[in-house]
Amino acid sequence: MKRWRNWGRSADATFAAVATPRNEAELTALIVATVRAGQRIRPMGAGHSFTPVAVTDGISVRLDLLSGVRSVEPDSGLVTLGAGTRLRDLPTLLGPHKLAVQNLGDIDAQSIAGAISTGTHGTGTAFTGMAGQVRGLRIALADGDIVDCSASQRPELFQAARIGLGAFGVITEVTLQCVPQFALAADEHPEPLEAVLDGFDDRMRSADHVEFYWFPHTDRALVKANHRLPADAELAPVPRWRSLVDDELLSNGVFAATCAAGRLAPTVIPSINRLATAVVSQRQYTDLSQRVFTSPRRVRFREMEYAVPRTDLPAVLREIRALIGTRGWRISFPLEIRVAAADDVWLSTAYQRDSAYIALHRYFREPFAEYFLAAERILTAAGGRPHWGKLHTLDAARLAEKYPRFADVRRVRAAVDPQNLFGNAYLDRVLGPVG
Ligand SMILES: Cc1cc2nc3c(=O)[nH]c(=O)nc-3n(C[C@H](O)[C@H](O)[C@H](O)COP(=O)(O)OP(=O)(O)OC[C@H]3O[C@@H](n4cnc5c(N)ncnc54)[C@H](O)[C@@H]3O)c2cc1C
Repeated sequence: MKRWRNWGRSADATFAAVATPRNEAELTALIVATVRAGQRIRPMGAGHSFTPVAVTDGISVRLDLLSGVRSVEPDSGLVTLGAGTRLRDLPTLLGPHKLAVQNLGDIDAQSIAGAISTGTHGTGTAFTGMAGQVRGLRIALADGDIVDCSASQRPELFQAARIGLGAFGVITEVTLQCVPQFALAADEHPEPLEAVLDGFDDRMRSADHVEFYWFPHTDRALVKANHRLPADAELAPVPRWRSLVDDELLSNGVFAATCAAGRLAPTVIPSINRLATAVVSQRQYTDLSQRVFTSPRRVRFREMEYAVPRTDLPAVLREIRALIGTRGWRISFPLEIRVAAADDVWLSTAYQRDSAYIALHRYFREPFAEYFLAAERILTAAGGRPHWGKLHTLDAARLAEKYPRFADVRRVRAAVDPQNLFGNAYLDRVLGPVG
């Protein structure tokens, strides 16, 4: 028996066993043996989802040994990676081919299969989430077969499994549409929140990748705008000492201390937040894409994130701000606002809809339920769709209303996993029973 808990300390489990197959043959043998033993099996990546989506009462299978580059097509930019590849290894793996992924979220600790399976996204009006960049998958199914799928080969399995919550089988390889390596010129600065919300849509289009943080109890937003440049542009990275001070000390170290202080004395949080937005200075730098997209997150938190129609974002955020104001909560963590282009992935939060994301965080030692639940009412009333890797309270019946292809997802699942080998209690809730 193996005990486990996730990064956010919001899910834990005891597995019958943990398996780390060295190749597809070992994985197939494991699946067949699990079926014979009458147990269940579930793939896990880096354990960075905030829900128990990856847990099982049976065998937890990790693909860490199925990682690295399988093939590269230099002309088209198609790269096939082992499913257990960690995003943090992508610069080393893709760099020699002068390639990079198109867009990334805030961190790169995740596995590629785990990241796509819950719809991980970054920001940018012209860019989809990571699953939208997937061109092919190789999957070990419940019957032990290993199949390839893409837009032209088993297209329904491909559509369902691109954001598939590990419900369709164990992905062994992911083929990504990569792009020529590029740099990002970053501009980070504080601004009045209202100035950012007025003209929100134009603002989000003003650079390739725009996002902002709003610290509750303040009227300030911290805006990050990244412009794409060719990889041979002159780089001006954040000096090592400055990144130590800004990212490690100010963003992570001081923030850890303020979260801890705020927990003991919540009344100081508004002053701390005002101070935080006042001391954060403007900074500009240019670096290779992944070093600008991602940064370490050392302060643990719990998170809920919803996608709403992009143009509705200002009204929805104002409503949540009013909620926080009237309830008297003291929230130390900022809300993060990002955008993504519509895509065609069946379970994508941006399915056929240009989207804006509102992410709420709470320090991991503080209660989150009342805050998240009240905000969730606003977000669902606004037609919001919850991130599949983050906290929310919706069940299959409510999710079915939000996803036009939900019935197709369930049909494909029943066809490839009729015995519910890859199921767990969490999937029962969000996808419903198999069949
Ligand atoms: C600090 C932090 C920052 C984050 N930042 C962002 C962000 O910027 N943007 C964003 O969108 N999300 C973000 N997330 C959420 C995160 O990207 C997702 O929860 C992602 O799924 C985690 O990847 P993982 O490898 O840890 O997968 P896990 O959490 O381990 O698993 C997630 C799902 O993938 C399935 N899975 C894993 N491997 C396989 C496989 N080989 N085959 C089939 N299914 C598989 C699992 O069964 C499970 O259903 C963040 C999370 C944290 C903790």
